[in-house]
Amino acid sequence: MTKKCEQVDVCVIGAGHAGCEAALACARLGLETIIFTVSVDSIALMPCNPNVGGSSKGHLVRELDALGGEMGKNIDRTFIQSKMLNVSKGPAVHSLRAQADKAEYSRAMRKVLESQEHLTIKQAEVCELLWEDMGEASQPGNLPKSLEGAGGKPGNPEGREASSMEASSERNQKTYRKKVKGVRTFTGMLYECKAVVLCTGTYLGARCLCGESITYTGPNGLQAATHLTRSLKEMGIELRRFKTGTPARMDGRSIDFSRMEEQLGDERIVPFSFSTDPDSIQKEQVSCWLTYTNEKTHEIIRGNLDRSPIYAGIIEGTGPRYCPSIEDKVVKFADKERHQVFIEPEGLHTNEMYVGGMSSSLPEDVQLAMYRTVPGLEHCRIVRNAYAIEYDCIHAGQLEATLEFRDVRGLFSAGQFNGSSGYEEAACQGLVAGVNAAMSILGKPPLTIDRSEGYIGVLIDDLVTKDNREPYRMMTSRAEYRLLLRQDNADLRLRKKGYEAGLISEEEYQALLEKERLIDREVERLKGTSVGANREIQNFLEAHGSSPLKTAASLAELLCRPELSYEVLGEIDRGREALPAAVLEQVEIEIKYEGYILRQKRQVEQFRKMEKKLIPQDMDYDQVSSLRLEARQHLKLFRPSSIGQASRISGVSPADISVLLVYLERYGKDLP
Ligand SMILES: Cc1cc2nc3c(=O)[nH]c(=O)nc-3n(C[C@H](O)[C@H](O)[C@H](O)COP(=O)(O)OP(=O)(O)OC[C@H]3O[C@@H](n4cnc5c(N)ncnc54)[C@H](O)[C@@H]3O)c2cc1C
Repeated sequence: MTKKCEQVDVCVIGAGHAGCEAALACARLGLETIIFTVSVDSIALMPCNPNVGGSSKGHLVRELDALGGEMGKNIDRTFIQSKMLNVSKGPAVHSLRAQADKAEYSRAMRKVLESQEHLTIKQAEVCELLWEDMGEASQPGNLPKSLEGAGGKPGNPEGREASSMEASSERNQKTYRKKVKGVRTFTGMLYECKAVVLCTGTYLGARCLCGESITYTGPNGLQAATHLTRSLKEMGIELRRFKTGTPARMDGRSIDFSRMEEQLGDERIVPFSFSTDPDSIQKEQVSCWLTYTNEKTHEIIRGNLDRSPIYAGIIEGTGPRYCPSIEDKVVKFADKERHQVFIEPEGLHTNEMYVGGMSSSLPEDVQLAMYRTVPGLEHCRIVRNAYAIEYDCIHAGQLEATLEFRDVRGLFSAGQFNGSSGYEEAACQGLVAGVNAAMSILGKPPLTIDRSEGYIGVLIDDLVTKDNREPYRMMTSRAEYRLLLRQDNADLRLRKKGYEAGLISEEEYQALLEKERLIDREVERLKGTSVGANREIQNFLEAHGSSPLKTAASLAELLCRPELSYEVLGEIDRGREALPAAVLEQVEIEIKYEGYILRQKRQVEQFRKMEKKLIPQDMDYDQVSSLRLEARQHLKLFRPSSIGQASRISGVSPADISVLLVYLERYGKDLP
């Protein structure tokens, strides 16, 4: 008798950027993990742009790295060009971006997975989730059970009235209705497990459109996953249909680069990973190229809109507003005379070129005609056509901040499946979902990141509290505390969390502590070292266009002047110790922006107060009679865990929050 059932701790469905991080996190935490993919060729595949990072996405990768993720290390291994963007602006918006050798990126990540203890790769389509009902979940009632034990009850001798709404994880206990038990593959194998992480990306129910031609495949012609949607629906999971698109890839030999502007990489390359030695990654880089569309291009597009599946109404899914197709750009920005087109190499061992900025789902003949109007592309030959893809994903309001489904114990999800878009967004969610799947099995506290701690916190909070009707992508403008959430200090903000979760090694953690020590010491030294208003100092200030001193000043006070840098101050600060560049960067930012940073830290304190006011998960919003109907509906749908979270739900007004605060305060006091 053969065995049809295998047993593991965690099943990760999908080996894209989310799945890889989720599976690595689980396996690294010692859990037997299996990662499923419909094709092993899709492991860490980049089906669209050949780069990692960029505005705000660079922040995400750095944060992921600080927590112990792999993306930063993998792009450091496989990049072919690197650039720090926005350096002419303030440090809050500096963003690292690297061109990847796509094939190498995929290969290198696969090697990491293959070398990881406790991790198995399995090419198989998962068709069904196995689960069981947990009976009646605790019903919402007048007195939520989870409030017991707080404010004035036995077991709380101090009767801390004022904090009756504040944190105790027990009080905010979840009310699961189902429990996941395993998965079934297309070939009939069963895998029993304690947790499942769904990372199905753009493959679920996927169909690709190029003009009138439709194929029922995933990206790059890979097999789609056609069965799992039904199983998810049967579990009561609400699904949505989103779409995204990609431009054509050209044969590099058919491009005239002399008609384009060359885009070079940085002279001094900054690594993504805090664990990569900057000296080890300096290398020769490839160039990218910039060209533009023109009126002729736009004319061809406008003349063929009726053949575009989006405009002909064939596409049902909603696309990303911030990554529009060239058809969308021409229609929505009709007065714009030209749009940027970036030509980016897909790797060192191929001459395929990505045509950034011109994604499309127009038919092939129209694509060829429109691309050939662009300077440098007059004789281009298309290797892969541009296309749009539609896929099934979820409404992420069904998830907790841990990325676990609110109603289903042990079921987590991450990435494009959660309604986001982008490799980096996917990878960050993958790590959070993976760690939390592991923590739930190990009985340890979950890993959550709030909006004041990282872009990852902003990303997840936006996904789980907002009714996102289109693929969500990260942008710096989404973060309230931008000055604190910089890409340069992601390790200082999050490495400790990664260490506590068990994903950062002792050596990496000690390196962080040493960095912190050096920063603090140097800041103190600069604040405590005075220079007099003597001739040498006045000459120095004059030479650098800075006003003379009237009385003595500290080096820190001089550094606050915009025209003076730490480097320049070296002329009058001769006794200083040589320190690593990453330490000096922090010292300079901390001193120059001290006032702004302090102000933002005070805002964070206010924010945290609201986050600490917990709302019981079995809260019965129908009992709160003064709530407006819309607010009640949205609160019931999203079931926020705190007042802070409730305040960010669309349709919940400040007045509704006041009503909730009063109600919850009364609850605490009314307890026997
Ligand atoms: C055509 C196209 C255009 C895009 N354009 C952009 C863009 O302009 N900007 C941008 O930021 N992002 C874009 N993206 C999105 C980007 O590719 C994704 O955000 C990113 O890859 C998502 O990572 P993921 O891990 O969530 O999913 P994916 O990378 O899609 O990986 C999903 C994985 O799940 C596996 N899988 C799915 N279902 C099953 C199943 N039932 N059983 C087993 N395995 C399964 C697949 O084999 C695959 O390994 C585009 C994607 C595509 C396809």
